[in-house]
Amino acid sequence: MIIRKKDYQKKLFLTMIRRHSSLSRSQIKDKAGIRLATITEITAELLDAGLVKEGKRLKADRGRQQVLLGINPSGGYSLGLEINPSRLCVSLLDLKGGVLLSREKALKKKNKFCLNELVEFSKSIIGQSGIDSSRIIGIGVALPGIVDAKNGIWISSTLMDDIKNVPLKAELENAFKVPAYLEERTHARLLGEKSLSGRKDNNILFVDLSSGIGAAVLNEGRLYRGSANSAVELGHIHIMENGPICKCGNRGCLEAVSSLEAIAKRASSALKDGVKSSILDQAGGNADDVNAEHVISAAANGDKLALGIIDDACKCLGTAVAHAVNMFNPELVIFGYESQHVIQPLIEPTWKVIRKYSLNTSFNSLRIETSCGKDFLGAVGAGMISIEHFFQMPQIQIT
Ligand SMILES: [Zn+2]
Repeated sequence: MIIRKKDYQKKLFLTMIRRHSSLSRSQIKDKAGIRLATITEITAELLDAGLVKEGKRLKADRGRQQVLLGINPSGGYSLGLEINPSRLCVSLLDLKGGVLLSREKALKKKNKFCLNELVEFSKSIIGQSGIDSSRIIGIGVALPGIVDAKNGIWISSTLMDDIKNVPLKAELENAFKVPAYLEERTHARLLGEKSLSGRKDNNILFVDLSSGIGAAVLNEGRLYRGSANSAVELGHIHIMENGPICKCGNRGCLEAVSSLEAIAKRASSALKDGVKSSILDQAGGNADDVNAEHVISAAANGDKLALGIIDDACKCLGTAVAHAVNMFNPELVIFGYESQHVIQPLIEPTWKVIRKYSLNTSFNSLRIETSCGKDFLGAVGAGMISIEHFFQMPQIQIT
C-alpha cells in the first residue's frame, strides 16, 4: 500500500489526540515528530473537515497560551448493527463512541435475513437522527455464526436460515458507499460491554450465557480472533462424555449442557420420559413449554430433577471457564445474559467450580462479574469497530 507522507502524518496526528484526549500543537510536534509548519497545515484541514475541535487553553512558556485540540465527536458517525434470529438492532455512534440513537425492530420473518430490510431500517434510523448521511464514516455489523471478517463474508449460522457465504461487506458498501466491517456477535458484544460500562480492564473473558453460549477474549485491549476469526468457541468444547447432541453436530458440547436452551431441553425430555418433577407445574402442565427459568425456580425449591440439571450445567460451565482462565489469564470474567434474574442463581455455583479448577496464579487476581446489562451491546460494539478502523494507522510495508 502506498500512502502519501502528508496523509500518514494526518492519521498520526488524529491517533495522538485520540489517545491523549487532547493535545496542543507543540505537544503533537514532540510526540509525533511532525514539523510545526505541517501541524499548522494539518490542523487547519482537520478543523475545516470538522474532525477536530479546539478546546481549553494551556498556559505555555513565556506567558503564551496554547489551544488544546481534541476529536470532535460530531465530526462523523458510525452505524452499528446487530443481526439476531428475531430482531435487528441499530445504534448510531459519534466519533468518540457516544451513542446518539439506538433502535430495534422485529424481523419480518423470524430466522430469515433480508438485506433490504436491514438497509431500509438502517437508513430510517439515520433519517430519524437528523444527521447528514454524508457524515457516516463506516458501518460495523455483529453477526451470529461464523464470520470471515477479513474478507467480509458471513459464512454460516446455526441460528439463521439459508446463510451460506453471504458477501455482506460488499453488499453494505454498495448500499451505503462507506466501508463496512463484519464481526462475530459475541466479539462485538464484548466491545460494546467495554464501551457502555466504561470498564478500564484490558484482559477480559466474556461469556454470553443465553439460549446458546458464546465467548470472546480481550487481550491487552485487543480482540483475540484467531486465524479464522473463530477463537474462543467455548460453547463447543467437549465437556460431557456421551452428552446431548449439539447444534454443531458433535455430542457433549458445553452449549448442549449449560445453555439456557439446553437446561430447558434436558428438563422437558426427562418429563416426557416420565420423571416426576415440580418443573411440570411451573410450566403449566405442558412439558413442551418448559424454559430455563422454570427449572432454576424448581431447583431453588429443592426439586431433585431440577437440581441435577442445574448442577450439571454449573459444573460444566465452571470447568470450561476455568480452562479458559488458565489459558488466557484474564483479570475479569464477565457473564453476559438476556435476563439477569435467570442467570444470577447460576453464578455462585459456577464461580465455585472456576475456583476449584483454575490455577491459583490466575484465580487470585481474577474478578467475576455480570454484564452491565445495557441494551444494544452488539450494535454498539460493531459501531466501535468501524470507529477503530477509521482511526487505524495504515500498515506500512518496508521492502
Ligand atoms: Zn457444539
